[in-house]
Amino acid sequence: MAAKEFKAESKRLLDLMIHSIYTHKEIFLRELISNASDAVDKLYFRSLTDDSVALKKDDFCIRISVDRDARTLTISDNGIGMSKEDLEENLGTIAKSGSFEFKKEHEKTDDVDVIGQFGVGFYSAFMVASKVTVVSRAFGTQEAWCWESEGAEGYTVTPCKKATAGTEITLVIKPDTEEEHYDEFLDENRLAGIVKKYSDYIRYPIRMLREKRRPIEGTDKDEQGNFKMPEYETYTEDETLNSMVPLWKRAKSDVSDEEEAAFYQEKFGDWNKPAKVIRSKTEGTATYTAMLFIPSRAPFNYYTKEYEKGLQLYASGVLIMDKCADLLPDYFSFVRGLVDSQDLSLNISREMLQHDHQLRLIRTTLERKIKNELSAWLKNDRSAYEEFFKNFGLQLKVGCYEAYGANKEHLQDLLLFYSAKKESMVTLREYVDAMPEDQKYIYYAAGESTEKLSKLPAAENILDKGFDILYLTQDVDEFALQMIREYDKKEFRNISGDDLGLESETEKEEIEAANEAHKELFAAMKEALGDKVAEVKLSQRLKSHPVCLSTSGALSIEMEKVLNNMPTGEKVSSRKILEINKNHKVFASLEKAFAAGDKEKVAAYTNLLYAQALLIEGLPIEDPVAYANEVCELMQ
Ligand code: ADP
Repeated sequence: MAAKEFKAESKRLLDLMIHSIYTHKEIFLRELISNASDAVDKLYFRSLTDDSVALKKDDFCIRISVDRDARTLTISDNGIGMSKEDLEENLGTIAKSGSFEFKKEHEKTDDVDVIGQFGVGFYSAFMVASKVTVVSRAFGTQEAWCWESEGAEGYTVTPCKKATAGTEITLVIKPDTEEEHYDEFLDENRLAGIVKKYSDYIRYPIRMLREKRRPIEGTDKDEQGNFKMPEYETYTEDETLNSMVPLWKRAKSDVSDEEEAAFYQEKFGDWNKPAKVIRSKTEGTATYTAMLFIPSRAPFNYYTKEYEKGLQLYASGVLIMDKCADLLPDYFSFVRGLVDSQDLSLNISREMLQHDHQLRLIRTTLERKIKNELSAWLKNDRSAYEEFFKNFGLQLKVGCYEAYGANKEHLQDLLLFYSAKKESMVTLREYVDAMPEDQKYIYYAAGESTEKLSKLPAAENILDKGFDILYLTQDVDEFALQMIREYDKKEFRNISGDDLGLESETEKEEIEAANEAHKELFAAMKEALGDKVAEVKLSQRLKSHPVCLSTSGALSIEMEKVLNNMPTGEKVSSRKILEINKNHKVFASLEKAFAAGDKEKVAAYTNLLYAQALLIEGLPIEDPVAYANEVCELMQ
């Protein structure tokens, strides 16, 4: 019988499959099983109202069988089946497939991409098979038909025999080549693995007869009753490969914490139990079930470029994408888990998905859900939240900073900072609520460690006034706070910056006058330091220390350090001010030397004080040897 030609579009798709260089050819099985499951669904629904369907719910199944000698793999189902016309219509014309339609419009779309992410239905069988035979009998008819094709040549449809309704698809697996190991699709273990990976939640059992070995009973002891190696026998077991009911579809009360944890650990390859499980189920505008996990430790590559964010995406129980990045904003990239949507089709391309309205709805709802869960966690289980924050707080702070602070509003209340007064982590809300009435700003200091920060000269005065200071120790902290700008109408102030809002108007005038009185001394000191500082002046923030460095303008010393440590980019410089403590004995010595006209001494002291201020700030001094020599000279 002469072969019929495929319709033009089908031919193109078929070519794409036959010559596919796509590496994950295994998805063909997912596609065939999904078709089988749809066909079974159709007959099952019919059985609910039609007594002529003799099958009961438990009778429906999908079966996989392998004949290694004949190199065939067969997938059969007892679903609705196809008539001769159905076979012609469905398997002779495949231009309907969603992703293929899309590909026609966007020719540049990569073939590999289309196959990879979504498969292209039945024809994907030709990625692994040299010949495909479909024997089918439509429910309610007596005749069966055999559709057969070796690909490009076309196909034939001939009458045949089949005892019951349903479809049986037999693939002759291609021979192994140097690059491709098609043999793996004749390996039962491998097939079982593929089913588990993509089709675990198909609602009907996917069965396969498997050869197994077991010890023969009573052969594990010798005549004296001592244990020995038992003898083994081979037996065949009809195994159901899929677990059918997804954990996330079971009622929350039916799933124990242990089951959830084990599920997460197995599915997402984490040694540790999750720190938190978030379940979400909605119906209405977007119908989906989500099961999300917050890991208890950051993955080793979390803060590197290698880490890929994303959730597993299922369309009615069938995995269509392993890491769908579009479902999570970057600042929640630590969340793992899955979403199962009833509104997505299996054959939707990645490009279409990106613009998919449903997907965007899901993302928005999930984002809100995650945020609310984190807030509740912070409120109800503080120590667990603090542990979480140690792992992923950095990401939330980066989130406040990124996109010009577009997300700060809903992230700022999830942040924790170290409080100098409480010696523990506080939220911005807690800080502001504890502020004395006369405190105008939220104070912070940025540096390497809370220990070092607690020794900053500028901290003493503020803490003495009863004001708290947030100690920031991560590079991003100060950038994040500057982006947040203010919390509850209170602005942030670096304790090393200018204008700390600590003095009254009259105090300010007094300071001006005092600075004016020492104008000449400061000019001489500034001259000695040259461009290193912008200004020398009396300090308001010092209590017992003789000097400190402060800055004016947006760039602090700590930010200067961070930015200059970046591998790329230009060097930046903050506007530094050397501040002197008027009440310190050193200041009296300076004044004395200046009054005596000893310019050299004034310059030497100034340089020493400047070097000290640098050291206190954790900045390198330019010439350590010169500094050491000068100190020694003073000691002689
Ligand atoms: P899609 O599943 O996206 O429609 P396919 O190329 O996978 O595209 O399948 C084309 C059509 O062939 C299906 O829509 C279905 O009507 C029919 N079909 C495929 N496999 C089976 C099967 N096992 N039983 C019944 N009908 C099937």
